[in-house]
Amino acid sequence: MNNISDILSAQKTLFRSQKTKDVAYRLQLLKTLKTEIISKEQAIYDALKKDFNKSDFESFISEYGLVISELDLVTNNLNKWVKPKRIKSSMLTFPSKDYIYKAAYGNVLVIGPWNYPFLLTLEPLIMAIAAGNTVVLKPSELTKNTSKLVSEIIENVFPKEVAVSVQGGIDVATELLTQKWDYIFFTGSVPVGKIVAKAAAKHLTPVTLELGGKTPCIVDDTVDLKLSARRIVWGKFLNGGQTCIAADYLIVKESIKEAFIEILKKEIIRAYGETPKHSKDFPKVINTRNTERLVNSLENVNVIFGGDFDIDACYIAPTLVDEPGLDSSLMSDEIFGPILPILSYKTDEEIENIIWNFEKPLAFYVFSNNKSFVEKTLNKFEFGGGVVNDLLIHFGNHRLPFGGVGASGMGAYHGKHGFDTFSHNKAIVKRGNWTDPPVRYAPYNKKKLNI
Ligand code: NAD
Repeated sequence: MNNISDILSAQKTLFRSQKTKDVAYRLQLLKTLKTEIISKEQAIYDALKKDFNKSDFESFISEYGLVISELDLVTNNLNKWVKPKRIKSSMLTFPSKDYIYKAAYGNVLVIGPWNYPFLLTLEPLIMAIAAGNTVVLKPSELTKNTSKLVSEIIENVFPKEVAVSVQGGIDVATELLTQKWDYIFFTGSVPVGKIVAKAAAKHLTPVTLELGGKTPCIVDDTVDLKLSARRIVWGKFLNGGQTCIAADYLIVKESIKEAFIEILKKEIIRAYGETPKHSKDFPKVINTRNTERLVNSLENVNVIFGGDFDIDACYIAPTLVDEPGLDSSLMSDEIFGPILPILSYKTDEEIENIIWNFEKPLAFYVFSNNKSFVEKTLNKFEFGGGVVNDLLIHFGNHRLPFGGVGASGMGAYHGKHGFDTFSHNKAIVKRGNWTDPPVRYAPYNKKKLNI
């Protein structure tokens, strides 16, 4: 089984054999996966450290811990989730018992990004397996150490006919996308999302696209400046700013902007020291190409803090930029690095002019203690999901669906929402035979219309 079509064909045969319909078998695989992951905990941290200097603590809270809790959730609830759900019958189906059956799609392709290379490959895989599918996973080629370990873990746990990890770059992804899948789950950039959607359309394959965008963060003048700055610095610079739901830029009420910037600077120094390059807690940029891209985006803008870099070391300091133009290269695309532009506003209309300048973002943040401003803002703008008075934490509640809207993606997952994503809702009516009202049968007449 060396090439992709052989792998897929073996997975197709296995799916049709009904093996993955056996819930006990799925549970056994998922429990073995948990044991395997736990046995490799330190190796996972080491791989993430090697790939982009991520600290063990960050790797625990943003990758390892989330995968383990997803596995616990699914193994504790799967028997309940798979049960056909009884639905109230309708006058039109009477007499009947109506149900929704949770049905696996079949053969699933998962393509993962590099920025959370453990979490964002394994979480979709876990939910796809839980729902009874087979999986081919392609992790990112940019995080070599973590992707290799993820592949090893999968190989140790799953027969190839059930799940397999195929390593490679664009060429391998392109080949995978020529195949006919029953479901594609893609996490990555907007341009590649469009390539995936186009390939899926060819076979009418349903897709989930977890993409990115320019996530705004509004700060008004009713907030506790220190608490807000601390939370923003944490959420922005976690993972070196390479988080799909990081605040891409701030929109700060003009009257507090200067004071807020001073507190942001202090918070950055408190977190990463005077020389973040030497901080064991500040991740690197993923590669020199991205470092160069980020460094170039600092041309012709007003850097007011940080800004130093070392391309060979994939390092850019946590950087603040004051009022970049909306037409600057920094503001034209998702930043995806440790650079935080700070825009300001006086009126609500100015906020609209900034946010509506961009596609619908994946996340949205508003820091304010003014309830009516918060509600108005949450309702006015379109975005995937958001937080009031903090960053990122909506990702951590598995009861909330996680996904984008418009250019930031389609579909959602996390917890039970993930299981639902990988399950087709089969609508089933079981008709009773004890009565058979004749009204629907021809010949028809006017009297029948009046019942
Ligand atoms: P990317 O789109 O460059 O790569 C993602 C995956 O697609 C990789 O496995 C890569 O090998 C593959 N790929 C790259 N080019 C391809 C092509 N031409 N055809 C087919 N496959 C191709 O994204 P990335 O750089 O790994 O990740 C960063 C992006 O992902 C950011 O935009 C970020 O916002 C987004 N992201 C979104 C989420 C989310 O949950 N919504 C999570 C993490 C990252």
